[in-house]
Amino acid sequence: MSAVTVVKCVKQPYLPNEKTLAMMETFRQMVNDCVRIALQNNASTMKKLSKLCYPLLANYDVVSYYKLCAISHAAGILANRKKSIKRGLQPRQPYATRPLLISCYGFKIENDVLKVPLGDRQYFDIPLNAYVKNILTDPSLQVRSFTLTTSNTVSICYSKEVAEIECTGVEGVDRNLRNLTVGNNKNVMQYDLSKAVGIAENTRSIVKSFKRNDVRIRKKITSKYGRRRKSRIGQLLHHVSKAVVQEAKQNKVAIAFEDIRHIRRLYQRGNGQGKNYRSKMNGWSLAEIKRLITYKAEWEGVRIFQLSIKETRGTSQLCPRCRKKITQVDRRQLYCAECKKWMDRDLVAAMNLSIRGLARFASSQGLAGEAMRGNVEKEPLILRVDASKLTFRRKPTS
Ligand SMILES: [Zn+2]
Repeated sequence: MSAVTVVKCVKQPYLPNEKTLAMMETFRQMVNDCVRIALQNNASTMKKLSKLCYPLLANYDVVSYYKLCAISHAAGILANRKKSIKRGLQPRQPYATRPLLISCYGFKIENDVLKVPLGDRQYFDIPLNAYVKNILTDPSLQVRSFTLTTSNTVSICYSKEVAEIECTGVEGVDRNLRNLTVGNNKNVMQYDLSKAVGIAENTRSIVKSFKRNDVRIRKKITSKYGRRRKSRIGQLLHHVSKAVVQEAKQNKVAIAFEDIRHIRRLYQRGNGQGKNYRSKMNGWSLAEIKRLITYKAEWEGVRIFQLSIKETRGTSQLCPRCRKKITQVDRRQLYCAECKKWMDRDLVAAMNLSIRGLARFASSQGLAGEAMRGNVEKEPLILRVDASKLTFRRKPTS
C-alpha cells in the first residue's frame, strides 16, 4: 500500500511586534507586486513567475526566502483567479489588503518557541501554547510552514505520511439540512444537526432586531454575531465529522459523497420561495461538513469517493432492495410498492450512495460493478445521535 503525504494546520494567538508588522507589510507589497507583474505578462505558472518576479523583487531588503514565498503565494492567488474565470465569473484584479507573512524556510521550533526569522540572524519568538505543543510532540510529524496574520493568529502547517487503509466496504454520506446520515446496508448512523439550523435562525433574528441605520455599526454587529454563529456551528460539525471518520476507520470502510453543489440553485431569489425559507436553505453548511470529513479522513488514511451527479442520479428515488422507483408518499418517508415497505428517506439515500460508491470502488479495483451490487436482505437499523451531545473522552495528559 502506498503512503501519501497529508497536511494539517494548527492555530494559536500571538502578539506581533513592530518589526514583525513591518516585515508582514513588506511581504504584502511583494505579493501584490508579483500579482501585478504576472497579470501584465500573462504568467501564472510558478516557474514563469519566479523568473519574472525574482529579479524585480531585488529592491526589497528582506531575506531571499521571503521573496520566494511571496512569489508562491501570488501563484496561489492567481491559480484561484484562474479557477474563478473557468467557472464563468469575472473576478477583479486580486490584491492582498492585509499584511501577512508566510514561509516554509528559515524558521525553527526550539524549546517550544517558534522562531520567525527577521533577517540578520534576528528572530521574533512566539512561545507555543500547550495545545500546539501537545500536537507537535508527535515524532512522525514534520513541520512545514508558518503563517502570520494581522488577526493575531499564527498557523503552523505540519504533515505526515499515512498508509491508506485497505477498505472492505463503502458507506454513503447523505447530507441534509437537519441531519447527516452515514451508512451502508449493514449499519446506519444518523447525526442530528437541527441545532445548527437553530443557531443560524437565532443569529438572523438577533441581527434583524438591531434597527440603527448606520452602516459601520451594523457591519460591526453583524460580523460579531456572524463569527459567533460560525464558531458555534463549527464546533458541532467538528464533533460530527470526527465521529464519522472514527467510525469509518474502525469499520474499515471508504466514504462516498454525492455532488450536491447544484442544490443552491433551487433557493435563489425569484424562485417563488419565502425569504425565511431561502435564508434557512442557503445557510446550510453542506460544503463545510464535507470539507471537514475529507481532511480528517485523509489524515487517518480513510479513502474518499466523490461521486458525480451522473453517478448519483435518483439516489433518493430508488429502492435499495429491489432497485425499483419509489413513489414518495410522505415528506421524509418513502413507500416501495414492490417490497411493500415504508423506508426513511435519508436511510434510502445513504444506502443508495453506498451502493454507487461500491460500484466506483469495484471499477477502481478492476472488478465488474454488477458483481459488487449490495444485496440488502433486511433493512439496517438506524442509530440516531444528537450531534450537540457528542463528546469525546480526552486522553490523559501526563
Ligand atoms: Zn423495493
